[in-house]
Amino acid sequence: MILHSIFCKIHPFSKKAGGGITSNRLWSVITICLTLTLCTGILFSMPLTVQAEWYTDSEMVHSDTSYEDMSYTGYDANHLLDTLETMETLCQKSNQQDAILSCYQTIVEELDQVVTQRSLNSLRYYNDVNHEEYQQVDTEMSLLVTDLADRVGHTLHIVLESPYYDVIANALNNEDLLEYYLNYEDMTEEEKQLAEQENRLVQKYDQTSSTTFTYTDSAGKTWTADMLDTDPELAEDYEKYIEVNDGLAKARNDLLAPIYLDLVANRNRQAVLDGFANYAEYAYSEIYGRDYSTEEIQNVYKTVKENFVPIMPEIYNTTIELIDYDLMDMPELTDDKVVEDVAKYLPKIDPELTEAFEYMTSHHLYDMDASDTKMDMGYTDYLYTYQAPVIFYNPNRNYYDYSVLIHEYGHYNNAYHNNKHALTDAVNMDVAEIHSQGMEILFLEYSDKLFHKKGDSARMMVLYNMVSSVIEGCLYDEFQNQVYAADHALSVPELNQIFSQLASEYGYADAYATTLGYSWVDVSHTFQSPMYYISYATSALSALDLLSIVQDDRQKAIDCYMELTTYGLDTPYRELLVETPLRDIFEKGTVSSIAQDTLRYSNKVKEHAELAQTYRFLRNVSLVIVTLIAVIAIIVILVEKKLAKRDPDTADTIE
Ligand SMILES: [Zn+2]
Repeated sequence: MILHSIFCKIHPFSKKAGGGITSNRLWSVITICLTLTLCTGILFSMPLTVQAEWYTDSEMVHSDTSYEDMSYTGYDANHLLDTLETMETLCQKSNQQDAILSCYQTIVEELDQVVTQRSLNSLRYYNDVNHEEYQQVDTEMSLLVTDLADRVGHTLHIVLESPYYDVIANALNNEDLLEYYLNYEDMTEEEKQLAEQENRLVQKYDQTSSTTFTYTDSAGKTWTADMLDTDPELAEDYEKYIEVNDGLAKARNDLLAPIYLDLVANRNRQAVLDGFANYAEYAYSEIYGRDYSTEEIQNVYKTVKENFVPIMPEIYNTTIELIDYDLMDMPELTDDKVVEDVAKYLPKIDPELTEAFEYMTSHHLYDMDASDTKMDMGYTDYLYTYQAPVIFYNPNRNYYDYSVLIHEYGHYNNAYHNNKHALTDAVNMDVAEIHSQGMEILFLEYSDKLFHKKGDSARMMVLYNMVSSVIEGCLYDEFQNQVYAADHALSVPELNQIFSQLASEYGYADAYATTLGYSWVDVSHTFQSPMYYISYATSALSALDLLSIVQDDRQKAIDCYMELTTYGLDTPYRELLVETPLRDIFEKGTVSSIAQDTLRYSNKVKEHAELAQTYRFLRNVSLVIVTLIAVIAIIVILVEKKLAKRDPDTADTIE
C-alpha cells in the first residue's frame, strides 16, 4: 500500500549553497529568439493560442474549506478497525456485495482521514520544528499509518480470496494494487520491529544532524560551522579555513555515518524478508514503482559521466559569468508579489494552468510565510480528505522563491487534476519531478520580465540546478546502490572511500576531495528516503529534453508538458515517455543528445546576455550623444539669443 502523499524536493544544491543542513522528511524552455528582437523589448514569443481541453475533471470535488480552517484534530482508528472486522465477517456470508463495497468505501475514507491528519500535523511540525508535542505526534502518526496499512492489507487479502474478489478488484481498478493485495502477507513480528527500529534510526539522524558540531584545533580553540563565515582568523588564512572545514565535516561524519550503517543493515534485512537481494532493488520496485532496474540504471550513470560531467564546467562558468547577486538578496520581496507574478504568466503557457492556481490562492492553500522556526524546505502535499493540494515553503527572499513556487506549482497542478485517495495513490517521483521541473523550463521564457535585466542570470541558475540534479542524482544513487549491494558489512572509512571515489568520477575531485568523502551524510534523503535521489536525475534529464524541444518548437513543448500533466503518478516513467515526444534516456544516444542541447541553450543565453549588454551600452552611448546634442543645441540657442540682442541690424536705437 502506498499511503504516501505527493512529495517534492527543494533543490538540494541551492540549499547547500545556503549553508544549512536541511532535513527533508519525504513520505512523500523555448524557441528563443535570441536575436536583436531584444532591442524591441519582445525577447521571446508572444502569448500562445488556447489549446484543446486537457483536463476533464467533471467528477472531482475539491473542498471549499480554506487552509486556515483545516487543522489537526487527531485520528480515532476504532471506526476503521470495526469496519475491517465487519468486512472479514461479511465475506463468510453470501449476497453481501453491497455491504462489502460499503465497507471498502469506508476504508478509503478512513485512510484518507488518517493520512490527512498526519499531513496536517507535519505542516504544523515543519512550522515549529522544536515543538515537542508536534514531533511526538509525527512519530505516532507514522507508526499508526504503518500499522493501519498492514491491517487493511490483511483484510483486503482475505476478501480477495473469498467469493467477493470481483467487488474489491473492480473497486481498486488497478492491476498492480490488485496483485499487491492478492499476495499480501501480514507483517511478521520481525518486520514490525524492523519498521520501528528504522523509524527510530531516522529520528536519531534528524536529531543528531540538527545539533551543533564542533572541531577543536591543536591550539585548543573550538570551532563551529557558524564561525567559518564570521571568524576573522579564517578570512585571512585559507589553509586554516580548509582545516576547520574538514574538521567540522569529519565531526559530522563520525556521528552520522554509523547511523547510516545501522539503517543499511536494517533495510537490507527488510528487503531480504520481502524476497529481494538488497534494499536498493526493493526500493526501486516496491516503493517507487520504477519500470527500470538497479542494473539498467548503471548505463545512465555511465552516459551521464561521459556526457554531462564534461559540460558542467562550461555551464558553471556561464552561470558565474552572468550571475547577478541582486537576485540573491531581494528583501522587498513578499509572498503576495511572488504569487501575483507567477499567476501573470501561467495563462501565457496554457490557460488551463490557471484553474488550480486560482483554487490554491482563493483557499490560501499555501504556507509561504517566512519564519525562524520553520524547516528550511519546500514541498507539495495532498490533503486527501479535502481533495486539496497544499504548498509548504520557508521563503529566502531571493529569486529562489520564484523558482520554488514555479516548481511546486508543477506538482500542485498535477495533483489538483488527478483525483486520488490514500489507499490507491502512487509514488512516482521520476514522473512527478518532470511536472515540476518542466514547469520551471516553460517559465524560462518569462525570466526577463520576472527579473528585470537579470533574466539571463536567473535562467542560468535554473539550468545549473537542473544539470546538477542530473549529476548529483546519479552520484547519490550510485553510492547507495553500491552500499546496499555490498558483499560484506561496510565500515565508515569504506563508506567514505566509496563516496570519495564516485564523487571524483562525477567531476567533484578538487581541493575539497577530503571533505567530499565525509559530506555525503549531509544529504538527508540518503537516510530518510533511500534510493529517492535517482528521480532527480531521470526527471531532470526529461525536463532538459523538454528544453531541447522548446528550443525548436515552443508550442510542441507546451503540448508535451500539458499532456504529461494529464497523467497521474501511477504510470511508470518509461511507459509515460512513450506517450509523449520525450525520449527514452535508457536508449543509446539520448543522454548525449540532451547534454548537447543543454549546452546549446546555455550558449544561447550567454549570447543573449552579451547582446543585451551591447544593446544597453549602445543605448547609453546614444543617450549620451542625444544629451550632448541637446546641450549643444541649447547653448547654440542661448548664444543666438544673446547675439541677437547685439545685432546692430535689429537694434532699435543707436547708442
Ligand atoms: Zn519537486
